[in-house]
Amino acid sequence: MHNVVIIGSGCAGLTAAIYAARANLKPLVIDGYEPGGQLTLTTMVENFPGFPEGILGPELIERMRKQAQHFGAEFLAGAVTDVDFSKRPFHISVGKENFEAKTVIVAAGASARMLGLDAERQLIGHGVSTCATCDGFFFRGKEIAVVGGGDTAMEEALFLTRFASRVHLIHRRREFRATKIMLDRAHANEKIKFVTPAVIENISDAGKSSVEAVSLRDTETGKKSELLVEGVFVAIGHEPNTKVFRSILDMDENGYLATRNGSKTNIQGVFAAGDVQDHHYRQAVTAAGSGCMAAMDAEKFLEATGH
Ligand code: NAP
Repeated sequence: MHNVVIIGSGCAGLTAAIYAARANLKPLVIDGYEPGGQLTLTTMVENFPGFPEGILGPELIERMRKQAQHFGAEFLAGAVTDVDFSKRPFHISVGKENFEAKTVIVAAGASARMLGLDAERQLIGHGVSTCATCDGFFFRGKEIAVVGGGDTAMEEALFLTRFASRVHLIHRRREFRATKIMLDRAHANEKIKFVTPAVIENISDAGKSSVEAVSLRDTETGKKSELLVEGVFVAIGHEPNTKVFRSILDMDENGYLATRNGSKTNIQGVFAAGDVQDHHYRQAVTAAGSGCMAAMDAEKFLEATGH
């Protein structure tokens, strides 16, 4: 029987683990499909407080993990396949292994949707990014591309005009899913050039570990072209990792967990932290902050229920 089982090992899960472990609760952290979460997909992180020279995303995560282990957190490789939150203790399955928990912190994150190109996978962190706030700064004076036609793509494109000399906004249709206000703002910005209807078929040059150009195909005429850019921001949405909690935990229409009064979910004793419940801020530091909140809420719940 575990006091706290933490589902997910990104910034939120690991911060929850540090706090819960320091409170002597010996948390069990279940790593998930992407151990370390989205920070492991980035290179330099320059906006996490306390690192004036910046720190590599994977190193930051590794340090958090060591810090949690130092205070007694345990880690389990694997992803949660089933949960039973209908009564306490809660039951959590990881394949054939089953665990019982007095409290659960869901910090399973959200995964950025990707285009699915080999080059995109190879170049992530080397010119391909899913976070303008994190990486925009590295593209000062450069021409870059943003992919997507929703509000996120507009927001990222607008933000990136602070740094880039030109932002090519590539979208597969002529119509946009983005709200009118965001679309109008993007149209009004001289630095943003709309490239529609087009899809990216390849990003070069994976061999050189840097972005030099994208190969485009016009989705109406089939015409192919090449666009010279030094960065590609993929902004085609995120998927919260909440499938396993469907019809158990309250979520919004996009599948993000609903939290109230801090990190509380609709089930007493189950808490949520990080991107799994936040599609707005999505930052390492906000995820860490909410992980801290969830651990403190779990500790309080254990005290109140006499454990
Ligand atoms: P979204 O609204 O789902 O838009 C995703 C966009 O990516 C769509 O234009 C879609 O094209 C495109 N796309 C999806 N898969 C693709 C693929 N494989 N290849 C190329 N293009 C692809 O996602 P979002 O923009 O992240 O927004 C999510 C939610 O957050 C929305 O409700 C949005 O309003 C909200 N949001 C609000 C703000 C704000 O108000 N400031 C900012 C950000 C997000 P199609 O249109 O052709 O399907």
